[in-house]
Amino acid sequence: MSISNNIKHIQQDIRQTEIDAHRPLNTVQLLAVSKQRTPAEITEAFHAGITRFGENYLQEALIKINALKQLPIEWHFIGGIQSNKTKAIAEHFNWVHTVSTEAIADRLNKARPEESSPLNICIQVNLDHEDTKSGVDVMDILPLATHISSLPHLRLRGLMTIPRPEKELPLQIASFQRLTTLFTDINLALKNPMDTLSMGMSADFKAAIQAGSTLIRVGTAIFGPRT
Ligand SMILES: *Cc1c(COP(=O)(O)O)cnc(C)c1O
Repeated sequence: MSISNNIKHIQQDIRQTEIDAHRPLNTVQLLAVSKQRTPAEITEAFHAGITRFGENYLQEALIKINALKQLPIEWHFIGGIQSNKTKAIAEHFNWVHTVSTEAIADRLNKARPEESSPLNICIQVNLDHEDTKSGVDVMDILPLATHISSLPHLRLRGLMTIPRPEKELPLQIASFQRLTTLFTDINLALKNPMDTLSMGMSADFKAAIQAGSTLIRVGTAIFGPRT
């Protein structure tokens, strides 16, 4: 299957799942996760209609962002953030999905160039208290959200999670639903409500859409397996 065929199929799956879930059409955005992919593959996906790409590794991403600077791509940083990388992330990306401490938020805010629009931020949530995963615990979301909302060069957009893998659709839906409920509750306490639920990957994006995701992050199903 070609990249453009894969994209066509996923877009059909998204539309069908929106219908099945009784959601308005076109309320789910597709972020193509392009880690380990070449500028040529990204260009192919771009010409098949994708404008948002997600990268996990800063050095790898900077090479591609530079190589593709003639294309109007929206770049999303979705990897773990080391504090010495915040300056380059704030300068070269439009979105960051993986903020989980005030210190990192402060550094991104400080490093965001004055002439750029505010950096769009999602807070990564560690739903299952897994030691191996980054993200804030559920109790710490609201204080962090409130802090980020106070920073002038950041714009709090939403919550992101990578739940514990489940095989069965109903269990997948149930875990994503927990993030949706937190999202709704926390929005009641914020002056400017969030609009983005970043959840769902190749193996579970239909469940995520059923549970209310507004942005799915898909790599393998678009580009094929990674090495
Ligand atoms: C790699 C990655 C994805 C995409 O995973 P696939 O299973 O290839 O779709 C999504 N989100 C994050 C944070 C990732 O690191």
